[in-house]
Amino acid sequence: MECGGEGEGARGSVAVGGEEIGREAAGGRRRAAGMVVEPGLLRVRCPAGASREPAVAALGRREGGAAKSRRPPERGGGRPKAARVTHFLYRGRRREVVVTDGPPSFGLKGGKFLVSETRGKGRNERIIRAYRAWMMARAEKSLPRRAVALGDKHGIWPRRVTVRQQSTRWGSATSRGTLSLNAMILVLPPRLADYVILHELCHLAYANHSPEYWEMLGSVYPDVEWAKRELKKYADDV
Ligand SMILES: [Zn+2]
Repeated sequence: MECGGEGEGARGSVAVGGEEIGREAAGGRRRAAGMVVEPGLLRVRCPAGASREPAVAALGRREGGAAKSRRPPERGGGRPKAARVTHFLYRGRRREVVVTDGPPSFGLKGGKFLVSETRGKGRNERIIRAYRAWMMARAEKSLPRRAVALGDKHGIWPRRVTVRQQSTRWGSATSRGTLSLNAMILVLPPRLADYVILHELCHLAYANHSPEYWEMLGSVYPDVEWAKRELKKYADDV
């Protein structure tokens, strides 16, 4: 069971077969997959040589255990607050987050995330949850459609496409023809998102990373090596 099942917006899911994309992107060793998304925390890796400013899309405090173990605020001190969200990643770009006071709402307009949230405890975490819920809703609409379009184009037909919020993998495929896609694929540039989808579609034909598998993937997506490198930029460092 490797799927993220905690937090608001996360979907319970059963363990499925197939390979996760992050592994070969990291040279086959078991290490952080393409990305780690925890409730309220999304970390992405900076490109090598990039500015030291972390490519952090959303920094928040993990809900649950860590939060419970927090000490109550002390006079004059106060508990540490989660870093205030300033940007969220969407389609490969960091989008500014503009927060106003008011009844909760969340949307993307003019390239910026316009967020309305009531003031008070946990506001930052609520904003992050709203982002994740929004991504999930978008992903449910767009990812299955994209998978079917790409599959049609190349003659690969999944029986079912599901969208989830998972903590360690971009996607997976089962021998029974189910494609499972991580909603957070939407953080990726569209061209890279297509790679993830095609990578999994090809696993419907080959449930491994054999030379035949890579040949098939290369025939439907010419820039495999580029995509593998790019995906690493979105991998978690831990
Ligand atoms: Zn794979």
